[in-house]
Amino acid sequence: MTALKDLDRCTCLPLDCDALLAVGWLGVDGDFRRGEVSSDFFEKLKALCVEPWQPVASAGFHQCGLCQFDGPRFSSNVFVPFNGSIYVAPVGIVHYVAAHRYLPPQVFIDGVLACPPMRSMAYHKALLANGGRGLVSGGPG
Ligand SMILES: [Zn+2]
Repeated sequence: MTALKDLDRCTCLPLDCDALLAVGWLGVDGDFRRGEVSSDFFEKLKALCVEPWQPVASAGFHQCGLCQFDGPRFSSNVFVPFNGSIYVAPVGIVHYVAAHRYLPPQVFIDGVLACPPMRSMAYHKALLANGGRGLVSGGPG
């Protein structure tokens, strides 16, 4: 998949929204920050990625290019509204953290910990409050 620098404008999706910032779009060169994260963060991230809300239909599967063999495939993205932006990560970020020790930017970690449950009214409102009005059509609220 297309590699993007963390916190760059997310140009990887066909969405017209200035609030979208990329997190965890890792390239195959293995050039990314590594480190430890708290289990609180990891569990919350995992929960958000179970069945994440999607503003657009998936454009196909990505496969982890960091695994030597049998990298997991994933197709959806997770949207984390926080602090005036919406952070967009492929759900493979769970695998990147668990298997490849990827360390996301602190603002994304804070955003995940603060994120309301996926598909809740609070989540929907957080999307709207952080610049996601162009992403959200219909739905609750
Ligand atoms: Zn992998």
